[in-house]
Amino acid sequence: MRNLIIVLGDQLDEKASAFEDFDPLHDAVWMAEVDEESTHVISSKQRTVVFLSAMRHFAQALREKNWTVNYNEIDSADNTGTLQGELKQTIEQTQPKKLIMTAPGEWRILQKIRELARSMHLELDIRDDTHFFSTVRDFSEHAASRKQLRLEFFYREMRLKNGILMDGKKPVGGAWNFDAENRESFGKQGPGILPQPSRFAPDAITKKVIELVNRRFASHPGSIATFGWPVNRLQALEALDAFIEHRLPNFGRFEDAMWEGEAWLYHSHLSCALNLKLLNPREVVAAASHAYQQGLAPLASVEGFIRQILGWREFVRGIYWSQMPSYIDRNEMKATAPLPSFYWTGATDMACMRDAIQQTLQHGYAHHIQRLMVTGLYALLLGVKPKEVHAWYLGVYVDAVEWVELPNTLGMSQYADGGLMSSKPYIASGKYIDRMSNHCKGCRFDPAQSTGETSCPFTTLYWDYLNRHADQLAKNPRMLMQLKNLNRLTSTQRELITSQAKSLKESVHA
Ligand SMILES: Cc1cc2nc3c(=O)[nH]c(=O)nc-3n(C[C@H](O)[C@H](O)[C@H](O)COP(=O)(O)OP(=O)(O)OC[C@H]3O[C@@H](n4cnc5c(N)ncnc54)[C@H](O)[C@@H]3O)c2cc1C
Ligand code: SF4
Repeated sequence: MRNLIIVLGDQLDEKASAFEDFDPLHDAVWMAEVDEESTHVISSKQRTVVFLSAMRHFAQALREKNWTVNYNEIDSADNTGTLQGELKQTIEQTQPKKLIMTAPGEWRILQKIRELARSMHLELDIRDDTHFFSTVRDFSEHAASRKQLRLEFFYREMRLKNGILMDGKKPVGGAWNFDAENRESFGKQGPGILPQPSRFAPDAITKKVIELVNRRFASHPGSIATFGWPVNRLQALEALDAFIEHRLPNFGRFEDAMWEGEAWLYHSHLSCALNLKLLNPREVVAAASHAYQQGLAPLASVEGFIRQILGWREFVRGIYWSQMPSYIDRNEMKATAPLPSFYWTGATDMACMRDAIQQTLQHGYAHHIQRLMVTGLYALLLGVKPKEVHAWYLGVYVDAVEWVELPNTLGMSQYADGGLMSSKPYIASGKYIDRMSNHCKGCRFDPAQSTGETSCPFTTLYWDYLNRHADQLAKNPRMLMQLKNLNRLTSTQRELITSQAKSLKESVHA
């Protein structure tokens, strides 16, 4: 054999750089399912089914082209349970001259594969991942000339460089963003009739994986009774088309809104297909841009959507690769509390948390504001160890891969990187959730109260967080307004809040 092409579970595209010079007569593909990847953080049943089913569909598509695929299933008797063990076994059996792969998305995996290639004296050719608009080197160049990294500057550079929504050197519509037109709530009347999400009934391959996961990972969180994620390219393309036609026009307007029992709203639900590489972000951005040009979706929605992909998705990847491996250990606010056990069950009286967690366990999905301003915010205000928060997010979501999950969790949501990802901690009281959803209407707590029997835990912990970190936060000019409001509280009010927060924390961890 000439080359052995390593394909990881999130590299499922036959147009990937690793296949550029693939010759089916002389080369072969290596893929493996291993326990290690479902257990190094506890992976939810939904997430494991997505990965295994999409991998099996991809391997089948390659075999149908008469390519040789060395694929070891997780249940096979000789499975070693680790990536290194599996790859070593195939190398010994097939004796390739060279290993080729597209750059992996996770630092830990890159080290393991490099280590193995070195120990077996094999050349390892690692190629750029073309499923991004920018390379890791582009980001380093962008970062090198700046004291502070901010999404907005990076995003503008990406728009210009790629000619997306541009009118020469000026942004289409005369502005780089249209936030003022976006981010509405659904109001008292609610969302009305929502478009149906694209869900795909499990085929024979997925059904087999569901049976396997129910048996092998029975104790892992979540359920797979309602599994419906796209697991192959055709399904992913169908999901993209349906989003562009039915949900993109309202995406921006309701990007931040939440509604009890409504998991899908106007979001794209494409992150999983994008991260597995069933879709290329270029085709997703092109489809959204085309919809605007055809007058099928307003600029505010299209720009808002494109910013998530061309801006945030690329930006977080740059942060990850420029900061790892030390990034994962950062804990700027010195948070030490354990993650409350109800994150694994949804068993809490807080209506907003219950809804976000139950939906997460049911579908492996929650939209950005649920992750940032509900489950993430609560952990931040409570002072949970960032690494525990990270393990939860990496385990429960179908789109969770470390390069994107870690900066979002540790940086954006927990402010554990001290402001690298965002200029200030994303903190708010229960009033924010009340404004953006109907959760508080059916909750036993009152978002306006910070102390007393019915006080909202978010509101209590918000003031407590500001109070605890006031000295540290005072160095940040963007926090001045919130600290000014804190200073309006009397010392008695502050004492009551501190004592309420203390008993709340004790009861959470009892
Ligand atoms: C604590 C936390 C953890 C997160 N973990 C992940 C994760 O593991 N994997 C993941 O893909 N996203 C993650 N995100 C970002 C974001 O929440 C999800 O991408 C989004 O909710 C996925 O749903 P969607 O496809 O319907 O997105 P939409 O709302 O439809 O957005 C469109 C696309 O933009 C991209 N996008 C949007 N926001 C971000 C962002 N902040 N960073 C990177 N890409 C973004 C995604 O590819 C997404 O599919 C996380 C956010 C937070 C606050
Ligand atoms: S009152 Fe507080 S806990 Fe209850 S839903 Fe509103 S924000 Fe959440």
